[in-house]
Amino acid sequence: MNDAGILFVLSAPSGTGKTTIVKKVMDGMINLSFSISHTTRSPRAGEQNGVDYHFVSVSEFMEMRRKNLFLEWAEVHGNFYGTSRPAILSRLECGKDIILDIDVQGAALIAADDSVPSVSVFLAPPSLSELERRLCQRATDSNEIIELRLKNAVKEMAAMEHYEYLVVNDEIEDAVTTLQAVIIAERSRGHRLSSGEPVKLRVEK
Ligand code: ADP
Ligand code: 5GP
Repeated sequence: MNDAGILFVLSAPSGTGKTTIVKKVMDGMINLSFSISHTTRSPRAGEQNGVDYHFVSVSEFMEMRRKNLFLEWAEVHGNFYGTSRPAILSRLECGKDIILDIDVQGAALIAADDSVPSVSVFLAPPSLSELERRLCQRATDSNEIIELRLKNAVKEMAAMEHYEYLVVNDEIEDAVTTLQAVIIAERSRGHRLSSGEPVKLRVEK
């Protein structure tokens, strides 16, 4: 048995429903935390600094990069995004499981990093037309940004074959249950209870 927490890496084209699904998965599980990324993107309406993202300037981001403070980082849809190395490693060392919501470039970097074991999950939309509908219905991005995100979605979908698990977000509740099942299965593989706690078997005399 390994005492370290499990790092779950979740990727999906923008608009698939990652944020929606991750919130519901976290509500239904204990001992699972979400990694708050740093980004140079501007906050959307309703997004809070330190809750949804750490919103930083390009120069702050570059300074963190220079100090090697990112476990991974990438430029996505014209903005920089990165995962804090100290925040992740300290939580994993304490046995905490973490979900990272990162793009396919960042996921490939983590998959190639043997010093940080991880489990990769790709969340796919049921179709590109449904993805476009979700991006438009969310109404947080301009038409130009939606176009860019849809163009990138085609490239991102091509990366799905490199992920260990595939979850299709058609019906929300089905996707939530499937992702929770993946998390529970990986905990069992690591000899943990479905709650994430280590199994302590009582030896009867
Ligand atoms: P992401 O974080 O992947 O960019 P969001 O979670 O913001 O995506 O979801 C994009 C939009 O799609 C939101 O308006 C959300 O309510 C909606 N949505 C998410 N999952 C589903 C689903 N299974 N069916 C229909 N709409 C969905
Ligand atoms: P959004 O701007 O819609 O919140 O996110 C855009 C994309 O950036 C999504 O694919 C999301 O998964 C990705 N992303 C968010 N945080 C990170 C991160 O820390 N690293 C990387 N590589 N991608 C991230």
